[in-house]
Amino acid sequence: MASWPHRRTIVLTVTLIALISACATSPTGRRQLRLVSDAEMSQMGIAAFQSMKKETPPSSNARVNRYVQCVAGAITREVGGNWEVQIFDSKDINAFALPGGKIGVYTGLLKVTANQDQLGAVIGHEVSHVLAGHSAARVSNEMAAQLGVSVLSSATGMSPDMIGMGANLLLLLPYSRGDESEADVLGQQLMARAGFDPREAPKLWQNMMKASNGAPPELLSTHPSPSTRIQDLNANLPRLMPVYEQARAAGKRPDCRP
Ligand SMILES: [Zn+2]
Repeated sequence: MASWPHRRTIVLTVTLIALISACATSPTGRRQLRLVSDAEMSQMGIAAFQSMKKETPPSSNARVNRYVQCVAGAITREVGGNWEVQIFDSKDINAFALPGGKIGVYTGLLKVTANQDQLGAVIGHEVSHVLAGHSAARVSNEMAAQLGVSVLSSATGMSPDMIGMGANLLLLLPYSRGDESEADVLGQQLMARAGFDPREAPKLWQNMMKASNGAPPELLSTHPSPSTRIQDLNANLPRLMPVYEQARAAGKRPDCRP
């Protein structure tokens, strides 16, 4: 019995180390809980993408596919890595990006984005959620709450069931308001670097407000109040116009036609 207190100390220490090493910092300096490895997040993202594909048919419109691929390609070239882009045939005004390099765009979104720059703003925003580790943080928080930290941080890795649970959480859990503001800032920067006009970002959210008309699409559901968001996106412009002009000067002039 004398070993109990000792054992307890070890367990506590291990848990503490797990928690300390599990804290990450987002690109704009916010602290996040990170209990799921990048490899596990990718597996969850890929599983979630598979189930989205089962739920919603792809768009067979070649023109639409070319257009969205062109815009997404210009954005992802800036961040590197392999990204798969699927255009879903659905009236929903929505788009998403998942860990593991997956991007989904619903054809309904194209009725709201007035030009390639506005579509670039949405895809930049979604990709920024992934790059900033927002999905990893929200899955970590929820899985830690449901399963406990020690299970998650065990050296044996995650069972297929846990990956499946994480994939579901990826699809269900909304981003926080803080995540949304951060993705706005990073996404607008990303679109400017890719040669899309950052002045179109506030205009996009104006269109989005009009289109949502009371029943907000998922893209808007947890987002900051539209007027604050538009104000913030406008406030970034003096800093981003030189980034945009530099990109254009370097030959980054996306020419994607709807
Ligand atoms: Zn968002």
